[in-house]
Amino acid sequence: MFSADYHIHTGFSIDSDAPMEAMLLSAINKGMNEIAFTDHVDYDSKYYPEPDYDSYMPVFNELKEKYKDDINIVFGVEIGLENKWADKINALTAKYPFDFIIGSSHCVLTKDLYFDQKEYFGGRTKKEAYTTYFDELYKNIQTCHDFCVYGHIDFVSRYGMYEDNSLNYSEYKDITDKCLIALIDKGKGIEINTSGFRYGINGTYPSMDILKRYRELGGEIITAGSDSHRPEDTADHIDYAYDMMRAAGFRYVSVFRNRKPEFIKL
Ligand SMILES: [Zn+2]
Ligand SMILES: [Zn+2]
Repeated sequence: MFSADYHIHTGFSIDSDAPMEAMLLSAINKGMNEIAFTDHVDYDSKYYPEPDYDSYMPVFNELKEKYKDDINIVFGVEIGLENKWADKINALTAKYPFDFIIGSSHCVLTKDLYFDQKEYFGGRTKKEAYTTYFDELYKNIQTCHDFCVYGHIDFVSRYGMYEDNSLNYSEYKDITDKCLIALIDKGKGIEINTSGFRYGINGTYPSMDILKRYRELGGEIITAGSDSHRPEDTADHIDYAYDMMRAAGFRYVSVFRNRKPEFIKL
């Protein structure tokens, strides 16, 4: 059965030291038919500079050719979306021939949710912090045009500093629905990010209720990604994510060519 890990980092991201080939071999060993390398670019974060694509492209092209009988590799990127950087982000996506773009919110109002955790969450109630996150996410959808799926759409709940960080969909229904509808209207998907199994929530980003809601509202574009930064984490819980898709009513998983979704039966 077809299986694809659509969120993998390599040593070209500053937070990974894994050679691209090691990530690739691990994915092949775990039975992946296709993977997307999605190294980071975040303009507001001091921590995720643009990869050196002059060094990146020869390595990527060589590996794509070398392993073409074993796996298909997609040229992707994970861009930290922020509406204040929309022009710069749109210029980046126009410059490189990415096949697949994850747009994620790592920074909100210039604060990195992980590295600047105290600055972002410190002065805000949980309700304020989570609502602001989705307000900004909505603005990002309106201003950053070229992404394919929104990454880990309820990511704010990973780094909250509250007694209970979980994001209960029913409490944030209005703003979450507004974002999901905007994504659907613009032909954008979401991903199931399985890194939550490695970050202590024993689940995915987003949770099942948001996934179901995206489908219920008419959304059809869905990918699954491990968000691995180490070879041992590639393909992690992808089969679980595919089961979630089926349970939420999806009949197809998406792959991307030239930023356009193609649909493969689940
Ligand atoms: Zn991310
Ligand atoms: Zn990532």
